[in-house]
Amino acid sequence: MTPMERFRRECSAFFAQLGTEGQKPLVFGDGRFDNPVLMLVGEAPGEQEALMGKPFVGKAGKNLDGFLAALNLRRADIYITNVVKMRPTRQSAAGRTVNRPPSREERALFTPWLMREIAIVRPGALVTLGNVALAAFAPDPIGKRHGKWSRAVVAPPSGAAFTLPLFPLYHPASIIYNPALKEVYARDLDALAQTLGQPV
Ligand code: URA
Repeated sequence: MTPMERFRRECSAFFAQLGTEGQKPLVFGDGRFDNPVLMLVGEAPGEQEALMGKPFVGKAGKNLDGFLAALNLRRADIYITNVVKMRPTRQSAAGRTVNRPPSREERALFTPWLMREIAIVRPGALVTLGNVALAAFAPDPIGKRHGKWSRAVVAPPSGAAFTLPLFPLYHPASIIYNPALKEVYARDLDALAQTLGQPV
């Protein structure tokens, strides 16, 4: 069994024994597992992701296409994952199942698994999308950290901690709710394209 296969099996078993929420199938990372140039870290799967068992498909996948085009990369060149690997849902007033942001508890439960996942993949850099993903590495709000490189500490539950270059971006979905961020996101993405691969 490869380290990634073992990771998936153990992570699924851990969340399965937690109860009903844990019965939802997990959406694991996708793409290149061995030293990709970057690892993209999102928040949590949405409806399409849960249906297809892949991160960033459907509407979020459209945003991803723009991201990849700006960096001149293909989906298969990078590794794409989420902090929380099951779709967080709630019932709307109309009785529909809709997305909700992942809770603090969900984030705390999944973060050590993310650290282990990063230690297996060993990407050249981490690119986080939005506040939830950034919070796995730094306590600052995204407004303070977006669009610049720093070094993130990756501390897997077992094994030595190490650091990786980190470039936080706003979450593409936040642009929909806050059009003023559109330009900021475009500028940040351009800065990433100009500097990716240069050590920090
Ligand atoms: N889809 C994902 O997989 N992650 C996000 O953060 C948003 C949409």
